[in-house]
Amino acid sequence: MVKYALQLNNISKMYHDGEDENTVLDNVSLKVRPGEFVAIVGPSGSGKSTMLSIAGALLSSTKGEVIVGETPLDSNKKNWNLVRREKIGFIFQSHQLIPYLNVGDQLNLIGRISKKKDREESKKYADELLADLGLADSKTKYPNKLSGGEKQRVAIARAFMNKPDVILADEPTASLDAPRGRQVVEMIRKVVKKQNRAAIMVTHDERILDLVDVIYRIENGKLYVNVM
Ligand code: ADP
Ligand code: MG
Repeated sequence: MVKYALQLNNISKMYHDGEDENTVLDNVSLKVRPGEFVAIVGPSGSGKSTMLSIAGALLSSTKGEVIVGETPLDSNKKNWNLVRREKIGFIFQSHQLIPYLNVGDQLNLIGRISKKKDREESKKYADELLADLGLADSKTKYPNKLSGGEKQRVAIARAFMNKPDVILADEPTASLDAPRGRQVVEMIRKVVKKQNRAAIMVTHDERILDLVDVIYRIENGKLYVNVM
């Protein structure tokens, strides 16, 4: 097994605004091991989403290197689609479920897109994830019949469907009340530990930080290990 599921090495991100240069990320490095659940906190506008987007091959950095498993992201983006599809699962602030698919089909759609395994195996895996996330009875329900917490748990199940080595979650509890938010993060933790995946969660919510293994803080473009 690889030592690190994800490495950000000396990542900087600048935006140009006329003559000015805005440094959002300033030489940030982060390594996450398989089975490790990491949180990133920091004020609004501090670069958390930017960092997650760079880690997930959605946005290019100005400087530095991203390595997913053993695969460095090409500077010309040649392997980005493949890495995203095969190695990364995203969980966004709002669940982004497809309204006209029931819960089971939200997951089976991913099984079909990834073509990694045959359909039966993929369906079995979907059932296992739904059971782990407390959604076994919701398989035939449509999103409009689910609570906010249930929808977000479906989004988690969907993110794990292609068995990604790295899970990236951007404020996954932002639309939930405290107990549901906590439950959602407990679920992410459960799958990360059970399947030895790596996860990075950006959050504002200090009350759930006891559920992660390491807390980092972004401030003025720098990343610090947080001492609570
Ligand atoms: P966070 O997720 O921590 O709230 P973001 O990563 O979304 O912060 O944004 C960090 C900073 O980068 C903000 O100051 C934002 O204005 C700036 N920024 C983000 N995207 C762009 C862009 N496309 N062009 C210029 N500036 C941007
Ligand atoms: Mg953000």
